[in-house]
Amino acid sequence: MLARADTIAAARQGAAQVDAAVGPLVLVVEDEPPMQSLLRIVLKTHGLRTVEARSGAEALERAASYNPDLVLLDLGLPDGEGIDVMRRLREWMTAPILVVSACGQERDKVAVLDAGANDYLTKPFANGELLARIRVWIRQSMTGTPAGDAECVLEVGDLRVDLARRVVSAAGRELHLTPIEYKLFVTLMRNRDRVMTHRQLLEATWGPRCSRETQYLRVYMGQLRKKLEHDPSRPRYLVTEPGIGYRLRV
Ligand code: CA
Repeated sequence: MLARADTIAAARQGAAQVDAAVGPLVLVVEDEPPMQSLLRIVLKTHGLRTVEARSGAEALERAASYNPDLVLLDLGLPDGEGIDVMRRLREWMTAPILVVSACGQERDKVAVLDAGANDYLTKPFANGELLARIRVWIRQSMTGTPAGDAECVLEVGDLRVDLARRVVSAAGRELHLTPIEYKLFVTLMRNRDRVMTHRQLLEATWGPRCSRETQYLRVYMGQLRKKLEHDPSRPRYLVTEPGIGYRLRV
């Protein structure tokens, strides 16, 4: 009986090792030991391999040696700002970077998103939320979507845009968008599920000279919500990220 239990345990362990050997690799950059071990356990039990760094310098070194599938980056690091690490990584790295920050660091969040982070989470966060974001970003980076100009049709829920024909519809109903609304909507669809900062949306829609005109955005997002959302006052798709920007929620 005991031998059988041992065999089962060994088989399970073997299976876990195989999983661990093939799962996506996450570089966890975090200087607080309790948080570091929590993340290690959560990620490992969900089939993700981890490599760890406790400082910015270590993060750069590990990223270069392991070429991870995703980076989880704490913003407050002992040897400098997470934003600097972020910029250095983005000089060569295309893998998704998910930033983790303490609450009340809105300005820092905007800066890291502008610098090329894919998303952010605010501490404390639920494990389920963390895993959901990691899955989204790993899937997107592995399948090469979105961002695809190759895609002719973008779809999120009942929203659809046919890029070749410039036709937008919601729940099968064709919508008439102004050229600016269309541009803004396509930018959000191409970056679905990603937090887009005010600046990123303004530059994509109006060009770099308008990167500070956030009131334009408020107006046009309001118009888009009226046209796309079932209830514009409680948007399902076009959600506001307070102090940061907007996200087209999938
Ligand atoms: Ca920290």
